[in-house]
Amino acid sequence: MLTGSIRGRWHLVTRIGQGGFGEIYIAHDRRTEQPVAIKFEKKSCQKEALKFEIEVLSQLQPSIFFPNFICSGCSKDFNYLVMDLHGPNLSSVRRHHRKRCFSITTTVKIGIEMILSIKEIHKIGFIHRDIKPSNFVLHHETTIKKLISKKKKKNDNLPTICLLDFGLARRYLDQEGKLLQPRGKVGFRGTTRYASLNSHLGIDLSRRDDIWSLLYLLVEFLKGELPWSQVKDRQLIFELKKKFNSVSLVKGLSIQFAKFYEYVKTLKFEDSIDYDYLISLLQKAVKEGKYKCDHSLDWDKS
Ligand code: ADP
Repeated sequence: MLTGSIRGRWHLVTRIGQGGFGEIYIAHDRRTEQPVAIKFEKKSCQKEALKFEIEVLSQLQPSIFFPNFICSGCSKDFNYLVMDLHGPNLSSVRRHHRKRCFSITTTVKIGIEMILSIKEIHKIGFIHRDIKPSNFVLHHETTIKKLISKKKKKNDNLPTICLLDFGLARRYLDQEGKLLQPRGKVGFRGTTRYASLNSHLGIDLSRRDDIWSLLYLLVEFLKGELPWSQVKDRQLIFELKKKFNSVSLVKGLSIQFAKFYEYVKTLKFEDSIDYDYLISLLQKAVKEGKYKCDHSLDWDKS
């Protein structure tokens, strides 16, 4: 556990996250009197993924779908990234929620924001490669206030969530904007529960794989689980993903999710994504269900 302060400005308060490569702390900014989040990575870490993450996050600025980048630097032992503090991640929100699932209206609202955030990262030439609930966080009260004053927007036009963690991101376009050719066999990338079949098969990932992960995530939000939720072993999960590599994955959900599934299945390595089509499917899933027009989110009700 780290203590003290960074550059005499950010006083470390508590650790809120621990990931594959580093640790995330809440800190108090003595200059602005606002809380911030700081991600640390040990310098001894072989890959130094944080430097790359900082590069991607900087390129994504400014955007309401990603954390606001404040600064980055290094101390004797650590590289660090200072950014706006957000709320809890969607994995923990779901786990603490009744029945461990979200309503269709909440899932669609945040699902659309997820598609838009994936679209933005694709637009700058990167794929995320680790789309999962714990990489989406709710906007924090202070960031919402900042966004309102910056954008002078009404509260209900602001996004609910924000996408983070670009440590596994990868360029799919070269500097001239041309598609990079798929590499031969590659190692597994991502998080086993949400990784596409391509990742298990060692096939180089592309834009379609972010959408596969998103589909798994949406199914989990609506059903409360995936067929492989209780399984830890990667090979067994792979077998189950193959078994459910049909519309049976979305059985019991609106027909629009079958269309979503069928669309993702048609995507080839080089294909761009029809984000608008996917958004329209989600919107139809709500309309067809004749749900009451309810803008409040599940976690605001309980
Ligand atoms: P790693 O790359 O080490 O997995 P992440 O960037 O995914 O680390 O962060 C791990 C967790 O820390 C996230 O799931 C989230 O709960 C929390 N976290 C990270 N950044 C922030 C932030 N800016 N605001 C609030 N929580 C954050």
